[in-house]
Formats: sequence, structure tokens, C-alpha cells
Amino acid sequence: MELEYYLCIKYERSMSMTEFWQKEIETMPRAELEKFQLIRLKETIKQAMKSPYYGKLYKEKGIDPDSLADINDIRKLPFTEKQDLRNEYPFGFLSVPQQQIIRLHSTSGTTGNPIVVFHTKHDLDSWANLMARSLFSAGARDTDVFQNICGYGLFTGGLGLQYGIERLGALSIPAGAGNTTRQVKLMKDFGTTAVHAIPSYLSRLYEGIIAEGIDPKKDLKLRFAAIGAEPHTEEQRARIEELFGIKAYNSYGLTEMNGPGVAFECTEQTGMHIWEDCYVAEIIDPMTLEPVPDGQEGELVLTTLDRHAVPIIRYRTRDITCFIEAPCKCGRTHKKIARITGRSDDMFIIRGCNVYPMQIEAILMKMPQLASNYLITLDTNENNDFIQVEAEIKSDTFTGDIEALDKLSKFVTREIADEILVTPIVKLVGQGTLPQSEGKAVRVKDLRTICKNESYK
Ligand code: ADP
Ligand code: ZN
Repeated sequence: MELEYYLCIKYERSMSMTEFWQKEIETMPRAELEKFQLIRLKETIKQAMKSPYYGKLYKEKGIDPDSLADINDIRKLPFTEKQDLRNEYPFGFLSVPQQQIIRLHSTSGTTGNPIVVFHTKHDLDSWANLMARSLFSAGARDTDVFQNICGYGLFTGGLGLQYGIERLGALSIPAGAGNTTRQVKLMKDFGTTAVHAIPSYLSRLYEGIIAEGIDPKKDLKLRFAAIGAEPHTEEQRARIEELFGIKAYNSYGLTEMNGPGVAFECTEQTGMHIWEDCYVAEIIDPMTLEPVPDGQEGELVLTTLDRHAVPIIRYRTRDITCFIEAPCKCGRTHKKIARITGRSDDMFIIRGCNVYPMQIEAILMKMPQLASNYLITLDTNENNDFIQVEAEIKSDTFTGDIEALDKLSKFVTREIADEILVTPIVKLVGQGTLPQSEGKAVRVKDLRTICKNESYK
């Protein structure tokens, strides 16, 4: 097929496909996909050079987009860092006249000052299409009643999903975050079949549903969940699927790249397809900055290919993942990435050992006696750093048997020590006693007075 043909595809479902949202694009042969990416990359560079930031930088470096011969030449371009976006706040990356931008979003500021991204009408159209394509690939359909349990406003999980659900043609319920009682009522009254939420909230919602005397498997029509926006383990996904009796699909995105809709699991649930017609994905070794071989973990680097207002080139996401090599059974040719195991910002060093919170979560979630909320505290005691892990024990499994509790706590201690090579202090606490955040879960509290690894913040 001619490449121009793909460029003409509209931001909507093509024909009456049963398996794909846009079959031509989703199943494009890789060689063509890469040629298509190169065309879009050149356009993106030209567009980006209209911004004060890239205009100056690329001129100084003498970068000529037309000199790129294939998509791997992207490696000749400099990286863009989170700090660059922060330094250029608010308009340094803007590549269109201000009257063309119609919305802005910003990061939640999990790891520092917020980053702002603007969108033109074209950008929002393209994003809504990607979001609809993502949901469709995971099996959501226009027949679904789709409740979006996410904060609206600046957070991209609200409006990003909203426009995607509408583009998909499902009935959207813009429920917003929190207020479990109202969420459950909406689910019951309107027969919600699909939800989007951060995984830590879904575990809490389950507790709320049970508290209302409702059996989620019998009394609700739920069948589908899109979960993302924060790192979570395969074990946590399995738990959500089991508790609700549904399928839960991993959804990845970040404000800098629009938000959700960057990569999404298809029904195979074996990794998330990155939509390569709209993004170039690279995975690099964060130390050497060289690409890692497929299958090896590294830092994800992303480039927008279809954004006018704020094109971002070779963005270091800090998210740790790897490419999954084997072609997907679903027929989509776009590369897949594995579950994000953490972000380099999340990693902490305790007594010389590098630890990701997800290593600890994976162990806790395997214990059927434990609920889903937990808190890791790093602190200093008589000149020594120590790590404490508090985990909630499910109310219905605690019989008051102190000996059994002690045995469980020792077992969890050993399992974690084997994994992270440092012995933690484990405290099993009552369900509902640990703090819960309204948005993304805060899993680590660092109170140390020495050896704090500031370089990772
Ligand atoms: P902030 O950086 O302030 O949290 P965002 O709301 O844009 O701002 O969050 C994007 C980040 O959330 C990603 O870079 C990634 O670290 C995390 N994230 C998003 N989706 C997932 C997911 N499915 N799995 C793990 N982490 C995710
Ligand atoms: Zn697939």
C-alpha cells in the first residue's frame, strides 16, 4: 500500500472491523511502518523547530531533518529530559501560535514540579482516536457502559479516557475519583460493564462493594477494567481479576506523551502494544544511553509523531521496561513493551541494595491473607538505615491467633529478604488502618537522615 494512503486514514474506526479499530494501521507490515515513522519524524522535527526550545537547540547542533535516512537515525538526535520541560515552563516547547491551543494538561507532580502539555484540536482528535483504538484492542465495544473512575481536571486519566470512550461509542459515565458509595450506586443503577481506574483504587472499591452487601460477581455486570497510571504487579492484576470476576488490561501513558493511549494490552494480555504510527519507542541503558538488545530491561524513550502543539523528541520517561520480541497472536504489528517494573525515580538504595517497590509488592500480593494496601518506610536508627514494611491483613482472615500472625509475619520477612537482600521489619496491621491517597498510591516514605539517594528523586 502507498504510504500516502496511511497518512489519509481518518481518526475513526475504519470500515466495520470486528477485530481492529484501524486494521490498515494496526497490522501494517513493519518495514512500511518504519518508513511511515520516518516521514512523520521529519515532519515532527520541522514542527518542533518552531518552538523556542527545539528551534534554538537544533539550530545550534545543525540538525537537518531531511538528512535522516532511516528511523534508527533518530539516535543522532539529543534526548529531552524531564528537567528540560520543567525549565521551559510554561511555553518553551510550544510549536504553534497560542490561539491554536485549546486545552492543557499537567502531570500530577509525583516526582517534582508539574510539567504542562498543550493540545490543538488536531492533537485532541488524534489522542481520542488512539484511546478508542486502545480500548477496542482490549475488547471494549460501543455496547459497553463505561465508568471512568479517575480524577477529571488536569490529570489525563479523566478527560483522556472520556474522549476515548465517546469515540469508541460506548456509554460513558464520567464518575470521577473517590466516593465509593456513589461509584457502587452508578454501577448498579446503570449496569456498568467496564471501568477505568488506578489499580490501588480498585482494591479499595472492592472493599466498599462488599461493605454494601453486594457480590461483585453476581450483582454487578462488570466484565472489563482498564488499569494503569501507576506501577502494579502481575499479582495485583490477578487479584483484581479474581475479586471482581473480570478481565483487567494494563494501560500505559504519561502526560508528556498525551496521557493514556500510548501503549495498551490487547486481549492476549502479553504486553502492551505501543502505537508506533504515533510514537517512536526506544529502550536505552540509562547509564550508557545506548539501546539495549530486545528483551533486556532499560529506560523507555519516546518521541511523538503526530502532535502539533508540543512535539517532544527522544523523551527519557524514566520508566523501566523491555521490548517483547515475539509477534503478537492478535495480528497487530506494533511493538509490545512489558509491564513497567518501576521508574528509575522510584528506585531506592537501602544498605547498598537497589530496590524497586514492585519487588516487595509482588511478594505481598502472593499472600492470600493480606489485603492490597501496604507502606514501605525507610528510616534511620542508631546510625543505621532500616526498611519497614507495613501490610494490611484481611479482616476475614485474622482469627485473633497471635501465633499464626507471628508465623505469617516471619514468613513475609524471609520472602522479602530473599528478594531484596535486606531484612525488613514487617508489621502486619489491621485492614483499613494504613493511609490511603486519593490519587496515585504513595508506597514509599523516606525518612532517612543519612544515605538518602537524592540522585534518584
Ligand atoms: P506523574 O509523573 O506526575 O505521575 P502522569 O500522571 O503523567 O504524571 O504519570 C505518568 C507516569 O505514570 C508514567 O511515566 C509511569 O511512571 C506511570 N504509569 C502510567 N501508566 C502506568 C502503568 N500502566 N504501569 C506502570 N506505571 C504507569
Ligand atoms: Zn496483541
